[in-house]
Amino acid sequence: MLRMMRKFSVNALKSSSLCNEHLYFRKTKMRITSVTQKNCSLRNYSSPPGDVKSLRSVINPHISRIRNIGIMAHIDAGKTTTTERMLYYSGYIRTLGDVDDGDTVTDFMVQERERGITIQSAAVTFDWKDYRINLIDTPGHVDFTVEVERCLRVLDGAVAVFDASAGVEAQTLTVWRQADKHQIPRICFLNKMDKTRASFTYAVESIKQKLKTKPLLLQLPIGEAKTFRGLVDVVTKEQIIWKPDLDDGKNFEQKLLLEADDPNLFQEVQDARNTLIEQVADLDDEFAELVLGEYSENFDLIPADKLQSAIRRVTLAQKAVPVLCGSALKNKGVQPLLDAITMYLPAPNERSYDFLQWYKDDLCALAFKVLHDKCRGPLVFVRVYSGSLKPQSAVYNINKSCTERMSRLLLPFADQQIEIPSLKPGNIALTVGLKQSATGDTIVSSKASAVAAARRAGRDAGEEKRSTSDVESLLLAGVEIPDPVFFCTIEPPSMAKQEDLDNALSCLQREDPSLKVKLDPDTGQTILCGMGELHIEIIHDRIKREYGIETYLGPLQIAYRETILNAAQATDVLDKTVGDKRHFVTAELEVRPRLGERATTKPVIEYAASVIEMLPKELQGAIENGITNSCIQGPLLGFPVQDIDVTVQSLTVHPDTSHTMISACVSRCLQKALKKAGIQILEPLMNLEITVSEDHLSAALADLAQRRGSIQEIQSRQDNRVVVAAVPLAETMGYSTVLRSLTSGSATFTLQLASYQALNSQEQSALLQRRMGLV
Ligand code: GDP
Ligand code: MG
Repeated sequence: MLRMMRKFSVNALKSSSLCNEHLYFRKTKMRITSVTQKNCSLRNYSSPPGDVKSLRSVINPHISRIRNIGIMAHIDAGKTTTTERMLYYSGYIRTLGDVDDGDTVTDFMVQERERGITIQSAAVTFDWKDYRINLIDTPGHVDFTVEVERCLRVLDGAVAVFDASAGVEAQTLTVWRQADKHQIPRICFLNKMDKTRASFTYAVESIKQKLKTKPLLLQLPIGEAKTFRGLVDVVTKEQIIWKPDLDDGKNFEQKLLLEADDPNLFQEVQDARNTLIEQVADLDDEFAELVLGEYSENFDLIPADKLQSAIRRVTLAQKAVPVLCGSALKNKGVQPLLDAITMYLPAPNERSYDFLQWYKDDLCALAFKVLHDKCRGPLVFVRVYSGSLKPQSAVYNINKSCTERMSRLLLPFADQQIEIPSLKPGNIALTVGLKQSATGDTIVSSKASAVAAARRAGRDAGEEKRSTSDVESLLLAGVEIPDPVFFCTIEPPSMAKQEDLDNALSCLQREDPSLKVKLDPDTGQTILCGMGELHIEIIHDRIKREYGIETYLGPLQIAYRETILNAAQATDVLDKTVGDKRHFVTAELEVRPRLGERATTKPVIEYAASVIEMLPKELQGAIENGITNSCIQGPLLGFPVQDIDVTVQSLTVHPDTSHTMISACVSRCLQKALKKAGIQILEPLMNLEITVSEDHLSAALADLAQRRGSIQEIQSRQDNRVVVAAVPLAETMGYSTVLRSLTSGSATFTLQLASYQALNSQEQSALLQRRMGLV
């Protein structure tokens, strides 16, 4: 019965629009085990799920044995299933979970909340052979790309999981590009090789074409789709054959592939190995020398370990990407994938971080995820880059300029947490007790240490002195958070609940920096701003379920932008006497539309030569504050103003004038100039990618035409068509429901902010009228 209920609720979740990684994350029941460094005794150890010995011996493994890895995948490619198998084979869970039954470790179920203390996990730790693997969760939905980016900062390598029957799908492409930006070495895992229509060659081709990368085929599948039963390691020429489907995958036969076993396969492997050797030799000089020297006559004699270390070098240098295959669901190929993670992905000390030189051996850590636990308050996931972190100690948060006390440090092993006495560089842990720290904050040992690091950084930059606030921009700068595209009002059921709601929202914001909360200055209402329809829905849902507050959301509205069409000038005078002080400012500003680089709400500020000569340095901050603040609310509809240049042409200030008054005058002056410059409203334009079967294609296209969509390309992907289009965000509301009914649920889509485009004059005046009507 319970199993049926679980199954039902998973399916219900999956089919609802709330189906997403956030909801699927694990909520683990807390089991805390304590390990002290001296005698390594284990306490409170209820039903140890893993190999106790291995936990005991390695609280802080050597840095070269740590792998901080993310798994990235399009939704449904099999990330959860693969993770689950990894935990099973490494001994941290005893039974195999099944996503479809809702009993996997890294997915969480709503009902689990009701049972005791639960926490969401952002990272899970386990050991494989002699390596410590920290698997960091990256959410699959596009609404959460900020989360993905945040995770990418703390991981050193990644596994991209693909559905071998679908090849590269939209979300993987997005995350792949983000990983490019952060220069993260990757390996690819072609999952679902057991599926009808699974195709190794097709998937490899799609990696080559779409990801524009060089795949290194380290394995060849034995059989495909229904006949898939194992694989051949191209490097060692060993074949691994698993027992038939019902087995848990721990039993397999591994032996050298001989020509007599299967002459065709033998030849294929031989060819694949030669290709691999040539590819690697092309990319790695050291290996090329070896190949051309000693082994030029016979590639067969090249030792596997030489080839493996060359593959490792080209992977770390991101010149190519190893490709492996398997079927997580059918328990095949996961152990070799784990081996490949340890073999080809970098240890933390093989990645270079500029800021490390400024900290030397002092503590430098990054808070990368905050979770709220009802009993213990905020739990902060941190990664240590240098120095060490200890429980019962004070730390300094650079971003918040505050000192905080940390009470405990925990390692997030699969479904238990182990208390540890210290955390060394390269490792990840969960801290208890930090109350102020939020996602993206840099944590050091003390203010003095931050100042010292800033001084070193300043020296490097050739400057005399640096304030601590500059450290922030120099060191572990936070994730770039795109501006939210949707917003709506949120109201508590009664005024009495407003305080609880504010509290819930501030907790949620610490967890998720892409959620913004504002107060409407006119109505006093709370406004929720998010990255997508789904994002806001999830927040609404979490407030209800996690904080027990039933809230009402206003209609979802679009976060437009404003820009200017022409250049214009304005002057403004402020003359106020407060007490016995006279505040007197005159300002003259010019605004111009920015050409070239687009879509930034940060105005470029310049000063006329006559101003810069006279201007005391300390007033510059006040002026720039005034300009920046003015750009947050455009003069037409109060949306952020983008792509403008501002020149301060003249400024006079009476000596008694406060900085606030200067900002106020400059701000008002800019509003005047903007109004004169002719305001253009811009709307968010989204990239839409729909995967749909041939027979539903025309219905999807007809619908798209009514949504002001412009179709850029229609590709074929196996039996499906993939429509790539651009569509205004305003036309995408409720799209998931519409598309589902148009295509009998067979289509999937992804949406992503592409740019902001100008509304035409009709649309703009219609929007203005609608807004007037609303007010
Ligand atoms: P995620 O969304 O990437 O986390 O994917 P899940 O692990 O939740 O899997 C999505 C669906 O694909 C589930 O129904 C799984 O049972 C199924 N699945 C996962 N791995 C495989 C596989 O290797 N073969 C097949 N045929 N199905 C799989
Ligand atoms: Mg999943």
